Amino acid sequence: MRTIGLIGGMSWESTAVYYRRINEQVRERLGGLHSADVLMRSVDFDEIVTLQRSGAWAEASRVLAGIGRDLERAGAGCVLICTNTMHKLADDVQRAISVPLLHIVDATAAPLKDRRITRPLLLATRFTMEEEFYRARLRSRFGIEALIPDADDRPMVHDVIFGELCCGVIKDTSREKFRDVIARGKAKGADAVILGCTEIGLLIGQDDCDLPVFDSTFLHADAAVDFALARSAALVA
Ligand code: GLU
Repeated sequence: MRTIGLIGGMSWESTAVYYRRINEQVRERLGGLHSADVLMRSVDFDEIVTLQRSGAWAEASRVLAGIGRDLERAGAGCVLICTNTMHKLADDVQRAISVPLLHIVDATAAPLKDRRITRPLLLATRFTMEEEFYRARLRSRFGIEALIPDADDRPMVHDVIFGELCCGVIKDTSREKFRDVIARGKAKGADAVILGCTEIGLLIGQDDCDLPVFDSTFLHADAAVDFALARSAALVA
């Protein structure tokens, strides 16, 4: 089994989900007392959010690339950035390491493509929804044209992520608002929902929605397990 390197803590609420999912998957696939071989560096998220808010992306790249290098030196056979948003910097991190960075868009898009989904609604931070780095990769590599919520809805989605979910706060009222956003997305032609922020699965899931739901956290974690157990050459960017 290869060692999985996790750049976590963004936020730790979802990194904990990654850790559990990766270990559950290894147990399910190998049985008995098997568990994953994992190296994790969990950052102080407040420092990262400060860099995001001030647009200091070059500095954020330096931080994440340095962690990627540390994980590789410590023996990681692959590296995961455990957040969708920070995949804005994925190319910089990949350039800093010689082991593969398992990209969250690729892990999420593979099952969408298998199910011939072409117009999923992307729920995510405003960086992920509004900038090109995420939707362009879906489009160019997978032919998937993600829809995003209306401009009136996007601030709510973003604020629930940072103000509630990353702080461990789960509110029924926010779940209802997300369900309404999904209903509006469906009315505009969405054929699935991407939980394109690693904390959204803490709030909503398949039971809240009559469109198929694709949770980037689980799919990314599962790609890491595929790689660790050497079944995933296709997912390596
Ligand atoms: N975990 C979130 C994501 O998947 C947001 C936190 C961040 O800004 O990294 O995008």
